[in-house]
Amino acid sequence: MGLVHTQGVVLRHTNIKESDRMLTVFSPSHGKLSVLAKGCRKPKSRFLSISQPFCYGDIVLKQYRDIYILTQAEVINSYFDLRNDLERLSLASYLLHITEDAISSGEGNPQLFTLLLKALSLMSFGQSNPLDIVLIYELKLLDCLGYRPLLDRCVVCEQDVGGSNSFSLAGGLVCGNCNGQAGDLLLDPVTLNAMAIILDMDIGQLAKQKLMAGVRDQLNKLMPAYIREKLEKEYPSRDFIDRFLTQHA
Ligand SMILES: [Zn+2]
Repeated sequence: MGLVHTQGVVLRHTNIKESDRMLTVFSPSHGKLSVLAKGCRKPKSRFLSISQPFCYGDIVLKQYRDIYILTQAEVINSYFDLRNDLERLSLASYLLHITEDAISSGEGNPQLFTLLLKALSLMSFGQSNPLDIVLIYELKLLDCLGYRPLLDRCVVCEQDVGGSNSFSLAGGLVCGNCNGQAGDLLLDPVTLNAMAIILDMDIGQLAKQKLMAGVRDQLNKLMPAYIREKLEKEYPSRDFIDRFLTQHA
């Protein structure tokens, strides 16, 4: 049985037996891992703090078939401040949810891992608008998975779009000759420009981004549809984000 030493963020937990937990962990090198944390719900357990959602740490695992057993853990950041604000906590939980759907077992994604850590930091400590963090995270997550939208050419014929602002969920702009579909969204040039900047921007610059209200509104219509299309999942929890947008308009 091999030992695996990796970093990880806890995406989800399920209580089992009297004091154990099964954790879903995102490792930058191994992707999605099912990790058994034995006895972690006992008050004096050394795994008590690592076994919470959002917790980021160094972990050592012993592999047993397709399960990993937690043998050592050191917390690097628990993002505890998220618990002080229900809205930020809900939005950060949504980030964990889509991240879990985006990753697979055995496939690392260091770029997405770094993006998640940055987003969780901004969500818990930063002054950034939490909805902006979600929208930027969604767009950059899709880019990390290879679904970078095509914004400078037509996604169908790959020719110049000739000023068309019709965005197809196939993955980018569609020119007038290629006839858009009914579900295409018309995006303002300022939104398209903001998307290009976000896609090219280093993750470290995320804190400086503040979206204009119109851009935020359009991205908040586009991103849920685009995420659903590419991850092939439904997200009923999106409703609360729309309520959030209305409250902070
Ligand atoms: Zn075309």
